[in-house]
Amino acid sequence: LPKSKSFINVEDRGYQFSDGVYEVIAVRRGVLIDSSEHFDRLFHSLNELDIYIPWSQAVLRVLIKEVLARNNILNGYVYLQISRGVASRNHIFPEQGVRPALVILANGLHRVKALRTEGVGVHTLRDNRWGRVDIKSISLLPNVLAKQKAAEFDCYEAWFFDDDNYITEGASSNAWIVDKMERLVTRPLGIDILPGVTRFRTLALARAEGLEIQQRRFSVKEALSANEAFLTSTTAGVCSVVKIDGHPIGSGIKGRVTTLIERLYKNYLESFSIGS
Ligand code: PMP
Repeated sequence: LPKSKSFINVEDRGYQFSDGVYEVIAVRRGVLIDSSEHFDRLFHSLNELDIYIPWSQAVLRVLIKEVLARNNILNGYVYLQISRGVASRNHIFPEQGVRPALVILANGLHRVKALRTEGVGVHTLRDNRWGRVDIKSISLLPNVLAKQKAAEFDCYEAWFFDDDNYITEGASSNAWIVDKMERLVTRPLGIDILPGVTRFRTLALARAEGLEIQQRRFSVKEALSANEAFLTSTTAGVCSVVKIDGHPIGSGIKGRVTTLIERLYKNYLESFSIGS
């Protein structure tokens, strides 16, 4: 449907309870980037919430390709959302037979604001999200409030810290530092962060490059005195963080390791062509 003619039912459980999940997948030259990882995460999210969909991964791929084709998009992003479906408002799951509601949107690259290539600022906040943020749920209110607060501090991203002052992740990205020993550091996977697909890809590219990597927790204090910092997400790619809470990181400009990682990821995106 054209966007102007598509409507959500007022009793969609996504709308009333944020009872649903989503994915954002990058598209380059018509290829869905790291699609297996995105589908694995989508089905993980659905399983954890006991949402059973009638569409196989193959069917979803066909539908996505169709939406991309109808919008004439070769380079951009796909937004896919699945809610538990439409039912009279009641917290408990609806009777069996309710069909989950599927939305697929496609946007060209120009719709995503280009980030400052010289790096962005980050604002830190206590992580006040629920205990299962490994599920990519559409329930994003704490993330919305955090990013709004960050924007008020002229920052692109908010980095959450846990009760022990360790950074968990960003409101819409994963968090990384290059520590004093020049190692890449990012928090290990668990129920307290989203398993970012860009995080996964960055680790693989860095490993292939022979960089030293540590998946361990790092504190706000360590981040402030790190050599470099950066964030990863499907829409931002690899993006240098040059300021945290107003303090310059390292020399205050994009560092050597971040520049390398950024280039590796860009080359990876550019390596795709139709048929690959
Ligand atoms: N963490 C959170 C909370 C996010 O919303 C996102 C972006 N969806 C990420 C991390 C990065 O994930 P990905 O690399 O798969 O886009």
